[in-house]
Amino acid sequence: MQEIAALKKDRNAVVLAHTYQRGEVQDCADFVGDSYGLSVAARKVDARAIVFCGVRFMAETAAILNPSRPVILPEPQAGCPMADMITPGELQGLKARHPGHLVMCYVNSTAEIKALSDVCCTSSNAELIASRLPEGRGIIFVPDQHLGSWVQERTGREVVLWNGLCPTHLRITPEDVRAARRAHPGADVLMHPEVPRECRALADAVLSTGGMCDHVASSSKDEFVIATENGILHTLRKQNPGKRFHAVADDALCPNMKRGTLRSLRDALAGTGGERIEVKGEVAGKALRALEAMLRLGA
Ligand code: SF4
Repeated sequence: MQEIAALKKDRNAVVLAHTYQRGEVQDCADFVGDSYGLSVAARKVDARAIVFCGVRFMAETAAILNPSRPVILPEPQAGCPMADMITPGELQGLKARHPGHLVMCYVNSTAEIKALSDVCCTSSNAELIASRLPEGRGIIFVPDQHLGSWVQERTGREVVLWNGLCPTHLRITPEDVRAARRAHPGADVLMHPEVPRECRALADAVLSTGGMCDHVASSSKDEFVIATENGILHTLRKQNPGKRFHAVADDALCPNMKRGTLRSLRDALAGTGGERIEVKGEVAGKALRALEAMLRLGA
């Protein structure tokens, strides 16, 4: 930890970490948050470099939002299977089949998909953004079918769904929720909208990871069952030492998020590891437009 702190200072680098990262990595970060919070933070960084402890699409997003700073991803193999579940050709096909629809893409997507979209969203602002899109226009939502169906339910908008999903959130089952309720009868169940609909119906609240942090901080309850990637339990316990948290499923772990270690963070800061992530040219310009639309509509 001390070595990492010294390297950060030497390099004048800022470390951003997603709440699904390992606890020890979160503890070394200057900012820990969800995709939306990290996007806003990345944009404001004026240090000389950004080291992004997360997965590739997040580092790409930071590079698009703040192209004047090098963005280093400590674990170049850390991708997101959901982001890879739609290709630019497939999205072009959807657009051709639904002319006049607006394309809303979850930030968990490649830069090429963002570049073909009208607006990006995160799980914390998807409902708000959909509700602010011009009435009478249908929405093509990619790539996550479950967040897309959540937006559809919450806003009543006409939404064309794609068939992407998160394999980690898919591991959370209705039986997991029922078992957690039996084991912790006084706890509120907080669930991420990437979890399938039949499971969401069993939750007390459906919230983004940032939304969970805010909800817990302001709630009078002191016990929660958390139904998302388990890295967030570290964040919640640290922020709320008097409250108790239980994972709904022990295997709700994202193998890509868990690639990141203190060693790879140290190597990225020392310049002996990691990969500089850059997005250039027309793709960067068009993706920036969709991300800026998100920041404008979703704030
Ligand atoms: S938790 Fe799911 S959506 Fe998030 S990075 Fe992992 S696979 Fe992708």
